[in-house]
Amino acid sequence: MIIGSHVSFGKEQLLGSVKEAISYGANTFMFYTGAPQNTIRKDINEELTLEAKKLMMENNIDIENVICHAPYIVNLANNLDERKYDFSITFLKNEIARCESIGIKYIVLHPGSSVGIERTTALNNIIFALNKIITKDTKVVVLLETMAGKGTELGCKLEEIKYLLDGINESDKIGVCLDTCHLNDAGYNMGEFESFIELFEKTIGLEKIKCIHVNDSKNPFSSHKDRHANIGFGTLGFDTIINIIYNEKLRSIPKILETPYIGENDEDKERIYPPYKFEIVMLKDKKFNANLLNDIRDFYKNN
Ligand code: FE
Ligand code: FE
Ligand code: ZN
Repeated sequence: MIIGSHVSFGKEQLLGSVKEAISYGANTFMFYTGAPQNTIRKDINEELTLEAKKLMMENNIDIENVICHAPYIVNLANNLDERKYDFSITFLKNEIARCESIGIKYIVLHPGSSVGIERTTALNNIIFALNKIITKDTKVVVLLETMAGKGTELGCKLEEIKYLLDGINESDKIGVCLDTCHLNDAGYNMGEFESFIELFEKTIGLEKIKCIHVNDSKNPFSSHKDRHANIGFGTLGFDTIINIIYNEKLRSIPKILETPYIGENDEDKERIYPPYKFEIVMLKDKKFNANLLNDIRDFYKNN
């Protein structure tokens, strides 16, 4: 199984990301090339990239499976503020160039939010923007993430994703990233994953799936909320998630955990711990650990 989590891209850039992924026992990872909520970006350091690639080779991490995530603030759907819209286009273009310079093949993108304009118009704005960004020479594949439908988010229905895909000229440079929490919140029953796969195959085609975000959900089915829960501690539950990630048809697809850090809701936020090392063990062993949260605290407090 190709499994990892989102990791940070800090001072050591990709090298730091690789080290973090290895510490979780992962064989892939997902990163933002800077803070996800802002657009301040440092230049890619080639030496660090080379060192990172060497470390990846030594640890059997195939760069083809490594995923980049575009920042949330990029919104290609709304063009009421033309300057913001143009900025989003330019920014995403640059982000893709950064991926190309590192050698990353996939970038995940939230399609966008319509905020105050009609949904179809908003979808057409996304298509227009993506056709400006993705050209014949683009080497990166943009993956549209299935969204929960929070607020005016687009891409919470497979029909919308299909509409977007159909509008892109360079059709082999566009794909889909499933997010299990978002799908649950959007009203797709993850407990009946075979039916979902059939529906996806009929609507879009399974070959378009290039990445899966593996998250449990803090909210009920069809709640349109988007709050991730730790694996086995949410609405989907452990068995449902196992059933999804071991689906034979999705075997070669990278699975990325984006579950919350432990202690995020504690008063003392200084002490938050990543759950990924322990969640990956659970998923590999197919054995739920009801004591997961305490085990993680104990591990990181003592290490
Ligand atoms: Fe996302
Ligand atoms: Fe996600
Ligand atoms: Zn989410």
